[in-house]
Amino acid sequence: MNRLSKDDRSQMSRDYFQSLDKEKLVEVAGNLHAFAVEQLERLEQNSNNSSRPPSSDSPFLKEAAEFDCGKTQTANQHKHLTDTEDLESEKVEEKQKQKSIAQGFGKRLPSAELRLTPGKQPGARGMWRTTPLVPKITIPHYPENCAACNAELTITSDNKPYMGYYVLELEKQESGVEVICQLHHYYSATCECGHHTKALPGFGYVSVVSGRSKDLQLQEYGLVGPMLVSFIASLAVRYRMSRPKIQEFLLEWVSVELSIGTLDRCIREAGIACAPVVKQLLCELQAAEVIHIDETPWYEKGKLCWLWVAITNTIAVYHIGSRRKEELLHLISSAFIGWLVTDGYGAYSSYEKRQHCLAHLIRKAIALTQVVNKEASDLGQWLLEELRELIQTLSSGDGDNSDDPVPGRLYRVCLLGRAAEHPKLKALAQEILRDWDAVVAFVYHPGLPPTNNEAERALRHAVIARRISYGTRTSEGSLAYCSLLSVIETCRLRKVDPWYYIAQVIALGRKGILPPLISVAL
Ligand SMILES: [Zn+2]
Repeated sequence: MNRLSKDDRSQMSRDYFQSLDKEKLVEVAGNLHAFAVEQLERLEQNSNNSSRPPSSDSPFLKEAAEFDCGKTQTANQHKHLTDTEDLESEKVEEKQKQKSIAQGFGKRLPSAELRLTPGKQPGARGMWRTTPLVPKITIPHYPENCAACNAELTITSDNKPYMGYYVLELEKQESGVEVICQLHHYYSATCECGHHTKALPGFGYVSVVSGRSKDLQLQEYGLVGPMLVSFIASLAVRYRMSRPKIQEFLLEWVSVELSIGTLDRCIREAGIACAPVVKQLLCELQAAEVIHIDETPWYEKGKLCWLWVAITNTIAVYHIGSRRKEELLHLISSAFIGWLVTDGYGAYSSYEKRQHCLAHLIRKAIALTQVVNKEASDLGQWLLEELRELIQTLSSGDGDNSDDPVPGRLYRVCLLGRAAEHPKLKALAQEILRDWDAVVAFVYHPGLPPTNNEAERALRHAVIARRISYGTRTSEGSLAYCSLLSVIETCRLRKVDPWYYIAQVIALGRKGILPPLISVAL
C-alpha cells in the first residue's frame, strides 16, 4: 500500500466519500485504517518499546507511570502477605540478604530492593593514595593575638607547628595550568599572660541533609584548594562532564588523583558557597525594569520538577521547584514593579505589566500553515504574516503610518480564527485574544522586547545537561546546581571571569565570610 501523502489526505472529504461505490469505499477505508494504525503506533512509541532515547519521553507520562508502578508494587505486597507460604520464603530471602550485606557484597546482588544509597557501599574495601604527596611550598599560619587577653603575639624561631595538611591548588600560568601541592602549617604561641593560643583553619557554613552520614561544611581544612574546586565545578557544570570523566581528565592531564566522592563534594561545595551571592542577586532583580522568565522540566531524584530562570541585562537567577504559581514568588517578589516577558503559561497571567512572547505565537502559527485543512492553513498563514509584520514595523522604527495599523488587523484575523472550526486555529486565536493586552504591550511601550528569546537561550544549557545527567538527586544538589548556573551566567552578562570569582567566593566561604558582589565590568 502507498502511504497516504499530505496531498492525498487533503483531497479526501465527506463529499468524496459519498461519491464512491461500496467496493471503492471499503478500499479507501482500508487505506485510511492502515494509515491511522501506523500513526497511532508511532504515537505510542517511547523509550521502552522502541529505539527512542529516554529523554524523548513525555515528562508528564513519566511521572504518571512511576505512580502506577508504586501502586502495583503495594498491590503485589498485599497479595504476598495473604499467602503464608510466600511469607515463609520471604523470611528466608531476608536472612540471605542480611548475610550477604554483612559480607560486603550488597552491590552484587541483582535484587532491586537491595540497592542501597549511591556510592561506596558499607563493607566495601577502602582506597588509598599509592604515592605520598610532595609539597612544593610550605605556608605557615601563626596566631596574631592572644585569645585570652588580645595582646599581640610574637613568634620565636624555635616554634614548631602543631598541625599541618596538604592542599592541591590550581595555578593559572601565562600559558597552561599547573596543580601544585601546598603544605599548610599551623603554629601555636604562648602569651606573656601564660595563655597558649593556636592558629586554626577557618570554617564556614554547614549544609545539612537528613539521613546523610557526614554534613557538608565549608572549611579550609581539606585537600582541594579554592581554584581547583572552581576548576572542577567548571568541568562539571559548564562543560557537562560526568564525575568519572572529570576523575579521568584530572589524572591524565594534570596528574591529580581524586576520588569520585571528593569531586562530588567539591562541586556541591562550590554551589553552596555561591548560594549567598544568588540571594543578593535576587534582591537586585526586584529593581529591574524588564525581566525575562521561563521554565523547563527538571528531575530531582527522578521526580518531575521545574527549572525556572529569570534574566535581565545584568542578572540571571535559576531556581528548581514545582511549576506552581508560588515558585514564581521565589523569583519575583511583590517589590517588583517592572515588566515581565513570558510565554503563554497560565501562572504568569495574573501579572499585569507583561509581554507575551511573540516567538511562541509565531511558531504555533507556522505549525498551523502546515495543517491539512485548507481554511485553517490559509488563516494560519495570514496570522503568521500579521505577527511578523507587527515585529518588523516596530524594529524598523518608522512606525505604522497606514490607516489600518497592524494590531487592528491582527485582532480581526484572530476573531475570524476563533469562529473557525479547526481546533488548533481556534486555540491559537483564543490564546491571542484572551491575552491581547500582553501580546501587543510592546507596541505601546517602546523598548519592551517582543520575544522571550533571552530566557529560552539561558535555559538551553540546562536542557542539554538534563538530557545528559537526568537532573539532580537531592535538594542540596539542586540548590548547588542552580547557584552555580546563576553565578556563571551573571558573570558572563557582566563580562567578569566566573571561575576566578567563584574561587574567591569559595576561599571566603571557607573562612565564614560573605563574598563580595559581582562587579559590573566597564
Ligand atoms: Zn594573653
